[in-house]
Amino acid sequence: MNKAYLWHPFTQMKDYNNSDPLIIERGEGIKLYDIQGRSYYDGFSSVWLNVHGHNVPELNQAITDQLGRVAHSTLLGMANIPAIELAEKLVEIAPKGLNKVFYSDSGATGVEIAIKMAFQYWHNLGLQGKKTFITMKQAYHGDTIGAVSVGAIPLYHDVFQPMLFPSHVIPYPYAYRHKDGAAGAMEDTLTALRVLLETRSDEIAALIVEPIVQGAGGIIVMPPGCLREMAALCRKHDVLLIADEVATGFGRTGAMFACDLEGVSPDLMVVGKGLTGGYLPVAATLATDEVYGAFYADYGEQKTFFHGHSFTGNPLGCAVALASLKLFKERNMLEGVIAKSSFVEQKLAALKERPHVGEIRQQGLMIGVELVRDKGSREPYDWADRIGVRAAARARELGMLTRPLGHVVVFIPPLASTEDELDSMTDILAASIVDVTEGGSTT
Ligand SMILES: *Cc1c(COP(=O)(O)O)cnc(C)c1O
Repeated sequence: MNKAYLWHPFTQMKDYNNSDPLIIERGEGIKLYDIQGRSYYDGFSSVWLNVHGHNVPELNQAITDQLGRVAHSTLLGMANIPAIELAEKLVEIAPKGLNKVFYSDSGATGVEIAIKMAFQYWHNLGLQGKKTFITMKQAYHGDTIGAVSVGAIPLYHDVFQPMLFPSHVIPYPYAYRHKDGAAGAMEDTLTALRVLLETRSDEIAALIVEPIVQGAGGIIVMPPGCLREMAALCRKHDVLLIADEVATGFGRTGAMFACDLEGVSPDLMVVGKGLTGGYLPVAATLATDEVYGAFYADYGEQKTFFHGHSFTGNPLGCAVALASLKLFKERNMLEGVIAKSSFVEQKLAALKERPHVGEIRQQGLMIGVELVRDKGSREPYDWADRIGVRAAARARELGMLTRPLGHVVVFIPPLASTEDELDSMTDILAASIVDVTEGGSTT
């Protein structure tokens, strides 16, 4: 039935239909159980969403309670209680200055909203020339057309090129491939940004960035100080800064938001994924009073932001997001992430010595293990080797789920994972990597 009726995202169905598909029936804590009753650690937080685990009584209860009141009512010109309470909470925890919350239902729609807001912000101020965006190499901001236009992963995005609006692309500071390491990589990024801003800021609306960690591009971690410098340059040249915190938000990097790690306050911030603890599809675009103010006018001035989705501000989703944020506080999640993150780092130290492991990139509980054909020359595996896919398949046999990014094996466990669970999961991670990169080929 699965093979007959479903078309899976980011999946070559011909491969899938020849595979032994995994069908999940239930979840409990950080484990998922398939229809055969086999259990797996959720080693990628169900694609980077899950925070407190699955089937969490407090989160279930929040949804049930709200369901007894109303499942959905619109936010178009009216309000509902959980949407109001959550907006207040988000403003309280967000980097300072972000005082307005615009809801949507996925990271991609949150990004669409941010780029449309940035564009119309300048339009409303009478600066119609400021209409292009700066993005970064290997950026991923979601799969709708606007989000793909500011995306820069050739494998996902090239085919759609004729449909997209053009963006300026600057390098993400990737130290590993830079001859002078982190400092050189950071300088390349800042120089490219400075040149663009000094010569073309009159036509640029905003810079969009995955702060501190670039996710789908391969879990690339920025050198310290880079984000702060980028933010300062944007401010100096009157270009808005959009922080896409869809992957990094809600504790994933060891701070509530990655921007907090550098004390950066963006003009627009997009959150999604972990917002509801990974339970329901709610996203939000947060804006400063200044951005909001450019839309605030008499109706006749036509400065309204004409954008909305049917399920914007869904009460069930907002209720579970509120319950999730309550657990963040009660369970000291942020301190937990910092402690767990150094535990994982120590556990993976030995893996670094293996002959086919390149970099192990980590920020908080966002980890990518790069597999290389040759450690000395840092020659990567060919995509046709499907090394990441094979490592993930081996991990599944050993009882943990993950999904690779090309030759990078992703380990993004739920923040609630205990040290014992992280211990078992890192063992599986290491064993699966050693098995596929060394097993059989060493003799
Ligand atoms: C996942 C992701 C998105 C897209 O979110 P969806 O909910 O899948 O649309 C956008 N930006 C970043 C950084 C992401 O990791």
